This record gives sequence, structure tokens and C-alpha cells, in this order.
Amino acid sequence: MNFKEAISSHIFTLISKASSELGLETYVIGGFVRDYLLDRHTSKDIDIVTIGDGIALAEEVSRLLPHQPKVQVFKTYGTAMLRTKELEIEFVGARKESYSEGSRNPKVSTGTLEDDQKRRDFTINALALSLNTENYGALLDPFDGISDLKKGILKTPLDPNKTYSDDPLRMMRAIRFATQLGFTIESNSLNAIAENHERLQIITKERIIDELHKIIASDKPSTGFKLLENTKLLPQILPELIALKGVDEVEGQTHKDNFYHTLEVVDNICLTTDDLWLRWAALLHDIGKAPTKKYDKKVGWTFHAHEFVGSKMVYRLFKRLKMPLNNKMKFVQKMVLLSSRPIVLASDVTDSAVRRLIFDAGDDIDSLMLLCEADITTKNAKKFKRYHKNFELVREKIKEVEERDRIRNFQPPISGELIMETFNLKPCREIGMIKEAIKEAILEGKIANDYDESYQFMLTKGKELGFILN
Ligand code: ATP
Ligand code: MG
Repeated sequence: MNFKEAISSHIFTLISKASSELGLETYVIGGFVRDYLLDRHTSKDIDIVTIGDGIALAEEVSRLLPHQPKVQVFKTYGTAMLRTKELEIEFVGARKESYSEGSRNPKVSTGTLEDDQKRRDFTINALALSLNTENYGALLDPFDGISDLKKGILKTPLDPNKTYSDDPLRMMRAIRFATQLGFTIESNSLNAIAENHERLQIITKERIIDELHKIIASDKPSTGFKLLENTKLLPQILPELIALKGVDEVEGQTHKDNFYHTLEVVDNICLTTDDLWLRWAALLHDIGKAPTKKYDKKVGWTFHAHEFVGSKMVYRLFKRLKMPLNNKMKFVQKMVLLSSRPIVLASDVTDSAVRRLIFDAGDDIDSLMLLCEADITTKNAKKFKRYHKNFELVREKIKEVEERDRIRNFQPPISGELIMETFNLKPCREIGMIKEAIKEAILEGKIANDYDESYQFMLTKGKELGFILN
């Protein structure tokens, strides 16, 4: 098979030229080839393997490029990287790898193209296209990756048990590719992942999370989470989700399985947003349900304050997984905390409740509405329609109230300084009390969200507290 057109672009002919100048044998390999054949034009990184010195080839390629981009050399790995405007090109000399227990960093020695293909994780990632003049564009595929690509199968070139044990990150990659590409993990491989699940312990949190992000960013993350669960990887990463699994029964009363419910919510929200952190919020929105679950003889199953408990759990979870403890985390916390508020509104929409919701959610109100709509997973068609209709009403009400009262990004109309000046006060607790009372009166709809009504209200409050005008 020849894929000349796949690599007819300027950059490949240039690499080819550099390679023959140095008397090397060179190939494009891995993700770029796979994605080209799948017609997925998302690859911005290109992997080049040469039989010989990858760093020397990178330097020669840079010399031939108009702007001579800087070559970044990673001596320990024997690799080099350079960036053009659109691309990131990585060069490596073909190598053989041998692993020892306890580390995913192998001993490396030089090898042939086939040695290098053997160290690749999946047959579909071991495909190589020749950049050599004599067979430019030829596909080199010793493990019949092309068939697996057509059938949609993930299979390791060598023994799966050893492949996953050597570098357990491959377990995460298998599940990530299965989710991203909609592929099936071949059964020997799937069993090997389950068998080696404990080996995940030697992988850094950052790498695990990178793969998890890619699972969450795909069209149907539930595929990945079910695989992570079946292979026993998920309890090591997100035990909070595993704790949501199962249905209890007391006195004939059951509750829904909140694990599978959560996965449905995540799939749902992927239809309406690409925001990775809103997707994370969907994944974590019910984690507080496990520690708060109780059976009450009168009302049945309850999860009292699970939103609050869940939002507190988010911090510990992010910290444990070495995820950034920044405003992204705060956003997830906020979504979890507010996740039931619009639902409560759906059955009783009052202006003041809507104002409070807008006040609390601020600019994240639209994200919150998406989360709550995704949370509707009832299989009863009538209820499904009704709930969505109710949310339509909530959305309309939010629009109407916001246009009138401008509560989003609420700024107190009366400052502390003005209160101090008006009553000739030094800083004291009462100033905060007056400010809070003004805010409450606005949210309750007793006064308008403007200066004049707030000023009058402040005068009344001040007098009530026994203050005298300046
Ligand atoms: P993507 O770029 O979409 O994440 P990719 O397959 O290109 O997918 P990279 O991390 O860019 O992934 O790696 C490039 C190539 O290097 C892969 O296609 C594969 O051949 C090889 N590779 C990457 N990581 C591993 C690994 N842990 N074990 C074996 N081979 C790997
Ligand atoms: Mg890649």
C-alpha cells in the first residue's frame, strides 16, 4: 500500500531530503498515520523515527526550514523536537526497549524500524509511512494494524500482559483511545488490563489525569468510565464515583444507582458543551450522595445536604489527583453546590428565588442551567418532557428578572464608606449588617436594585439601630 498523498506536503518532502542528505532511513509513525487513515485531521503533532541519530536529523531539518526553528533536545530520551507555525515535530532514533519492575522508564538501545514498532502500544499506533526516496509513501505494518484500524480494534503488538505491566500508562491510553475513537479493546488486552490494574500505582497522577481529561473531552465519556470500572482502574482514581454504585433497598424502597445516573448526566452534557470543567462538574455533581445517604421511615431515601458535602469533597479530590487548585476547581465546586437549585425552582418559580439563584450563580448561571438539564435522566417520556418544559420556564424567568433587576455580578448600591459618612461612624459590625440588610431587601424584592431606594432603606435601617444622621 502506498500513501504518497498523505505525506505529499512540504514538511514531509523536506524531512525526506534532510534524511537522504544524512544517509538515513526515516519514517512517519504513530498518531499522525493513524489519524490520517481514520480521516481524523486533528493531529498537530508528528512523530518521526529514523534509523540512527534523531537529534542530528532534527537539526538538519531545522537548517532546511526558512526560519530555522530552535531544536529542543531531550538528551536523556535521545529525542528532539521542533515547532513550525502549525506543527510540533518530534524526532527519535529507532530503539529497542527493555523494562524493569517499578519503573515505566525502560533501558534503551538502538534498533531497527521493527524494533521500534514493537515498543509501540497498539498495532494502530505502530503504523509507519516511508519517507525514503526508493519507496516514498509505502506503509510498513508488521502487525497488521491496518486491519485493526478497519475493524476498530485496539490490540498490542506484543504480549498484552507484558505490554501493560511494562508501562501501565498504556492501560489508560487503551481506554482513552477506545473512548475517543469508539474502538473495542480486544479481549486478551482487556483481561490483561484488569489483571495489571494495580500497576497503575507507578504512574504519576499528572499522566493519569491527562488521559482522564481526554476521556472526559470525548463525545461519550461513559464508554471510558465503564471500561475503567470493569478493569478495576476507576477505584484507584476516583473512589468517590465507585461509592455511588449500587441500589439499596429498605422496606421495599429503592433509590437510583447514582453511578450510572452520573455517567448519563456526563454523556448528556457533552451534547451541549465542550467545556472540560463543566463536564467535570457533571461527573462530580452527585459525589456527596454516598456519604449523606440515609433511609428515613417517613420520607424514604434522603441525601440531605449532598450538594454542600459534595462541593467540599471536590477540593480533596482535586488535591489528591494533583489537579490545579485554582478558579477551575472553584467553578466545579460552585456547580456542585448549586446543582439542585434550579430543580427546586422548576416546581415553584418566584421572582425572589430566581434573584437569589442569579446572585449565587453570577456569570455561571448558563453553565448551571446546562448541568441541571443534563441531570434529567428519567426514562418516563412524559416526565422527561415536563421537566424540560419547566426548565424552559426557569430560563425565561431568569431572563426576565435579570433584564429588570440586573442581579448578575451584583454590586452593592451603597458602600460601607457612605454608611460611615451618613451616620458619622467608625468601622464597626453594624456597617456590614446594614449592607447585608440592603442586599437581602433587594433579593427579596422589597426595594429595587438602585441607589435611591437603597439609600432610603439605609436611612431607615440606621435609625432602627439608633444611629443619628451626620
Ligand atoms: P494523541 O496525540 O492523540 O494523544 P498519539 O498516539 O499520537 O495520540 P502520542 O502521545 O502523541 O499519542 O504518542 C505518539 C506515538 O508514540 C503513539 O502513536 C505510539 O506509537 C507511541 N507511544 C506513545 N505513548 C506510548 C506508550 N506509553 N507506550 C508505547 N508507545 C507509546
Ligand atoms: Mg500524537
